[in-house]
Amino acid sequence: MAAAPTTTHVAPFEDARGKLGFGCMRLPKLEDGTIDMATFTQMVDAFLDAGLNYFDTARPYHSGGSEPALAQALTSRHDRSEFLLADKLSPNGFEHREDIRPLIEDQLRACGVDYFDFYLMHSQGMGNYEKYQREHAYEEAFAARDAGLVRHVGFSFHSNAAFLDRILTDHPNVEFVQLQVNYLDWENGVIQSRECCEVAAAHGKPVIVMEPVKGGRLVNLPDEAREVLAAAGPGSPASYALRFAAGLPGVEMVLSGMGTPEMIAENVATFSPLVPLSPAERDAVARVTQILRGQNTIECTACRYCVDGCPKKINIPDVFSCLNAKRAYGESSAEFYYKSVHTGHGHGLASECIGCGACERACPQHLPIRELLREVAAEFETEQQDA
Ligand code: SF4
Ligand code: SF4
Repeated sequence: MAAAPTTTHVAPFEDARGKLGFGCMRLPKLEDGTIDMATFTQMVDAFLDAGLNYFDTARPYHSGGSEPALAQALTSRHDRSEFLLADKLSPNGFEHREDIRPLIEDQLRACGVDYFDFYLMHSQGMGNYEKYQREHAYEEAFAARDAGLVRHVGFSFHSNAAFLDRILTDHPNVEFVQLQVNYLDWENGVIQSRECCEVAAAHGKPVIVMEPVKGGRLVNLPDEAREVLAAAGPGSPASYALRFAAGLPGVEMVLSGMGTPEMIAENVATFSPLVPLSPAERDAVARVTQILRGQNTIECTACRYCVDGCPKKINIPDVFSCLNAKRAYGESSAEFYYKSVHTGHGHGLASECIGCGACERACPQHLPIRELLREVAAEFETEQQDA
């Protein structure tokens, strides 16, 4: 085991080593779509060997596959003292208050542990807060803490700063918040990363960052933006994004949804040690933000929360990535890729959207998905019909 990073943490993160957390929602997959357990196990060991210890999961990740994958690769192979594990109470996991304790116990069994270090009310602010209030979900989570099933209670959040202030006022006993923070969303009027961080600070709550690279958007930069970062100094686009997030005051942990051993190695290097962005580098990411905002691309993070509930099974994030590739890079293969995301997978075309709106209610980025699908159809399906 490598020496633990020297990062010091405030409560309740005193036991965390380093500031990089392993988000288990984009694990490596085999061709049949199942989790590549051999590679994931290797990644878990590499992460622990680097002296890091924070893992984050949720029941919906990999359609229920993330929790048992962690049981196999992490909790059954390593002593409980070697890792911290965070799990979540997801909105589709319960209907009534009395469902919550059995669900937590089932999640513990699935993960192969006796307690979670961190337990989060999942995706608060997505039209589901009223349900959590009505069913006393926060009270149930704190009762689970009192019973020793959970060590610390917080929530992950997808709405604006005013709503965050409301939840923290309603529940002053939550111990931390998980926010979407990255340099592209810092001044985003919808996501409001900066204002949300300020609200968390005003309530004295430490922050876990999610989506620091905006679902890969800040990794796969267009050439013009890459050149801006290259001129500012060495380091990959991902390292700039992670250093931006991890260097913010109040941030105790930065989650990265790592899907390959190479991502583990690169991210570990970025945090060994973590060097916050210099003023010149902050200017560079501000310039990259301007460039990306000028591209008219769709700010989808590929979380896939919209996909399961779509009656036409439209592969929304993948068709959006086709349009982004076309707009950002003039990518000529985007048409072929658009065709391939439907072929043999039972997914509907963008034009088959019936406008039910289920996807928009599930989207943490508040994207106007129906309208955007019309743009996708206009871009790709006209050409397909012409071909
Ligand atoms: S609005 Fe369209 S894309 Fe969204 S869930 Fe309904 S059918 Fe699917
Ligand atoms: S459209 Fe929204 S919900 Fe769907 S994958 Fe993109 S960000 Fe996630």
